Amino acid sequence: MSESAGGDPSRIIQLIMTLRRQGITDGKVLGAIERTPREVFVEAAFEGQAYENSALPIECGQTISQPYVVAFMTAKLGVSDRMKVLEIGTGSGYQSAVLARLCRRLYTVERYRTLLREAEARFARLGLTNITSRAGDGTKGWPEQQPFDRIIVTAAASEVPTLLVDQLKTGGIAIVPIDVPASQATSQGSGQMLAKITKTDDGYTREDLIAVRFVPLVDGVAREL
Ligand code: SAH
Repeated sequence: MSESAGGDPSRIIQLIMTLRRQGITDGKVLGAIERTPREVFVEAAFEGQAYENSALPIECGQTISQPYVVAFMTAKLGVSDRMKVLEIGTGSGYQSAVLARLCRRLYTVERYRTLLREAEARFARLGLTNITSRAGDGTKGWPEQQPFDRIIVTAAASEVPTLLVDQLKTGGIAIVPIDVPASQATSQGSGQMLAKITKTDDGYTREDLIAVRFVPLVDGVAREL
């Protein structure tokens, strides 16, 4: 593997085997993860843990998602190479990079400019040219570029984000972590449910997938740290 692509083949293969054991069977998704060196997306202090199946801290108090969750969300999104996809919450850019290998064009929005600039440098380093990114409030989507075939939100919304669903094509899918209302909390506490929202002619349908833990989706653009 070339230096610029980065990545430790044996550690990546181990990660792929772990994901397979955990039920990720989609070969295209596993292939995209295999070709995306996660060590490029973590801070230097965590490089040794880059291929462990865990979330890690990144700048601005945010996190890079656990590989299993990235793989699961990507598989449920059902992306093809003809699709235009919107991501809310660029963060490190790892999920963006995995998606960009599977779709035609990825649009990604991040509220922290610091994170966005670092993610953009990583996209350039990896030669990912089909990503368009911007700093902004992702709760409003990307109205100029709608409609999208798919939308992925990588921060937890308090309710179904209908503004985003409105920017999907009919039949389009959004994968979104949504807070579980306190009234429905179980003995394990409240938390978040990963939901698959499908846009229909007259609204949307919702299917709940798995319990997850994401940083919150926050309104507005961040003041720089
Ligand atoms: N997909 C990322 C995970 C990032 S964590 C990765 O693979 O690394 C979630 C990100 O969502 C954070 O960077 C946070 O700043 C961002 N975020 C939260 N609310 C947002 C909003 N309203 N608009 C855009 N980004 C938002």
